[in-house]
Amino acid sequence: MANSIKIQVKPNYVKLFKTGYPLIDKEAIKNSDVLKQEGTIIDLFDDKNQFLAKGYYGKQNKGRGWVLSHNQKEVIDQAFFTKKLKAAVEARQSFYKDNDTTAFRVFNGEGDGIGGLTIDCYEEGYYVLTWYSEGIYSFKEEIIKSLSNIVDYKGIYEKKRFDVKGTYIEDDDFVIGERADFPLIVKENGIKFAVYLNDGAMVGVFLDQKDVRKAIRDKYAKGKNVLNTFSYTGAFSVAAALGGATKTTSVDLANRSKAKTIEQFSVNQLDYEAQDIIVEDVFNYFKYAVRKQLSFDMVILDPPSFARSKKHTFSAGKDYPELLKQAIQLTERQGIIVASSNCSTFGMPKFKGFIEKAFQETGETYKILEEFSLPKDFKTIKEFKEGNYLKVVIIKKL
Ligand code: SAH
Repeated sequence: MANSIKIQVKPNYVKLFKTGYPLIDKEAIKNSDVLKQEGTIIDLFDDKNQFLAKGYYGKQNKGRGWVLSHNQKEVIDQAFFTKKLKAAVEARQSFYKDNDTTAFRVFNGEGDGIGGLTIDCYEEGYYVLTWYSEGIYSFKEEIIKSLSNIVDYKGIYEKKRFDVKGTYIEDDDFVIGERADFPLIVKENGIKFAVYLNDGAMVGVFLDQKDVRKAIRDKYAKGKNVLNTFSYTGAFSVAAALGGATKTTSVDLANRSKAKTIEQFSVNQLDYEAQDIIVEDVFNYFKYAVRKQLSFDMVILDPPSFARSKKHTFSAGKDYPELLKQAIQLTERQGIIVASSNCSTFGMPKFKGFIEKAFQETGETYKILEEFSLPKDFKTIKEFKEGNYLKVVIIKKL
């Protein structure tokens, strides 16, 4: 592997790296002109030439790489990757042993010691690696070798999300082993999901919501008329229907969401014809629902952090209170709102501020019943709070 190069950290960032912060921000680097090839190993030093940390150079949003070690002598080689992957796999043994959950995250980026890389496992032996920069991708050979030595795999797939915005790069996605027959039917706390590992950036289910789906099914859905907005493949609707919801309505503007949602109901032996699956802009649907005086016992909000449709631009950091206000209007008294955001630019306190604001402005009152962040397999570290991006609040409208 190539020699490391020396990076000088700006004085106001030194303390951050000393406290274990793993992300190497563009602004933290003094001599960025020396950074040429992604994947180069970099040693970070303070202005007194004291070693701070070792990492790799890779462009990911405003990041220019991730810290891999605080030991100056550590060599970033096959053995290093094997050590990290092994620890991560060992920490997920309860998931490997759980017959009711066959899809979970095995390696969660900086939470497991290597920022820019995630690995998910689907249905006993199919793995998906997601590379978030050219830099981390340059270690592909070592990482795949390590993974294939540690786990019993059937097939390995990959997703490349290299450009600065993390956009998915269209590719075959298959790496080694045998190709799976899609859909693979995975289980999550007994709920079945059809997944496709070779069909674009998203596979059909977001694994980070498993605790929320379980709670909806086990504690909140019984007897409820449920509206699931930004529903994608309808995973929350399926959880609600399995939990005894009287009816679910799923709304998403993507054309393919309808067939995908029908498929998820069907693999769970649920009659999709008893459900409403609507392809429409959520904001238009809200207007329609108000006009028709519809109301629901449970409204689920899980918008993307940022979305632009023909008529609307939605940015979670700005527009979430408005979204909540519309949901409050459609929710029955004593009904439930499940408010979720995966936007990493704000944390739980600000999100709760949005909830407070929305209820205040509608003149309604509420009670928070439960809160969720990332599940156990999405390991995070306290030194990097932004890594725990998921915020879900279960609210009762009084
Ligand atoms: N709640 C889903 C995940 C949501 S992903 C789940 O549990 O799996 C975000 C979804 O929002 C995408 O499917 C996208 O098509 C949809 N979307 C984005 N903007 C929208 C809008 N204005 N109206 C309806 N759907 C929208």
